[in-house]
Amino acid sequence: MTGIKLAVIGYGGMGSYHVETILKNETAIEVVGIYDILTDRKEAAAEKGWYCFSDLEELLADEAVEAVLIATPNDSHKDLAVTALRAGKHVVCEKPVTLNVAELDEILSVAEETGNIFMVHQNRRWDPDFLIIRELYKKQQIGELFQIESRVHGGNGIPGDWRHLKKHGGGMVLDWGVHLFDQLLWLIDSPIKACYSDLSYILGDEVDDGFMVHLIFENGVRALIEVGTTNYVNLPRWYVKGTAGTAKIEDWDLSGEVIRATGKEQQTPKPIQAGVGLTKTMAPPSKEATEALTMPEVLETFPSFYQNFYEVVRQGAEPIVKNEEVRYVLELIESILSKGEQSSVDNCQEKLLRDIDAAEMKRETSKALV
Ligand code: NAD
Repeated sequence: MTGIKLAVIGYGGMGSYHVETILKNETAIEVVGIYDILTDRKEAAAEKGWYCFSDLEELLADEAVEAVLIATPNDSHKDLAVTALRAGKHVVCEKPVTLNVAELDEILSVAEETGNIFMVHQNRRWDPDFLIIRELYKKQQIGELFQIESRVHGGNGIPGDWRHLKKHGGGMVLDWGVHLFDQLLWLIDSPIKACYSDLSYILGDEVDDGFMVHLIFENGVRALIEVGTTNYVNLPRWYVKGTAGTAKIEDWDLSGEVIRATGKEQQTPKPIQAGVGLTKTMAPPSKEATEALTMPEVLETFPSFYQNFYEVVRQGAEPIVKNEEVRYVLELIESILSKGEQSSVDNCQEKLLRDIDAAEMKRETSKALV
């Protein structure tokens, strides 16, 4: 098999990770060169032995380059993708695909017009922890999952430079949110009925440093998606409840527990001491009422992202990450960001101040009447 000849645009954290880690053993792709606007990043690539294009024009004019990977800050994806597609290249684009749906639509119409492939690197569909939850959801080892909590917590604030700035598409909704929403919307084949979001601005940046989003799907499933960058103690990566059990995955190391109800009659629980009181409700279930299952082992049933990209380009296969799915996730993100939780907090404060003013006025008036 001759791999697709791919050039990388942006040799920062993720661009270098693609070529040095993800693509290391990937026969579907042959990396032919790198382009970065910064000289020191070009030098870093050259030190690793990569050919460096002097500018974008040289890269796009090179007929040997069949495809490009865009791994630059989020606000540059749209223009780079459109230019590359128009230059006759297939495009793999890092997440979040663009800052809004209008930008994505522009790319998709150019892809359609030129007939070139455009695919977004939503790599966390391949995460083993997510695949375990997918297995539990589909195979129902703990019954039907009706509550899914998906979290990532860190204590280092927002990393880097451009991720702090709105104009570059910074903030955690666009950075991590896009992964977690993509996983859930791919998993749950039911439209979103309601969404409540609460964005946090604890660090004082102009973009969100974390969020909590509650989604209710038409099939009744509830999901809580949470990202935090000011958490020094982490909650589990996943906590899910099914009609016959509960599962928890602590971290990407896949440690955790899967507990299933045996269906054997539960003995009346004995009250336990809880704080300064007694409780039967919160006592652990009797031994015979539950059993611990081993964490499901997930065997990959679909090709890697780049293998799939190869099959889409060369053999007309179906993409695993479909552009309409990417668009749906972006619609959700756009709606979350446009609600501008900060302004709704401000509105609450304004309302509170108005209420206080009104109460103050009432008091003044009644004083005057006395
Ligand atoms: P980064 O700041 O580390 O690297 C970006 C690189 O792009 C820099 O070297 C910069 O000089 C270069 N660059 C900027 N504008 C350019 C342009 N117009 N042309 C060529 N090069 C340009 O950022 P990063 O963390 O590598 O993030 C890059 C992209 O990858 C973002 O979209 C981010 O969301 C995504 N990403 C994805 C994952 C994932 O798991 N899929 C993980 C991290 C980052």
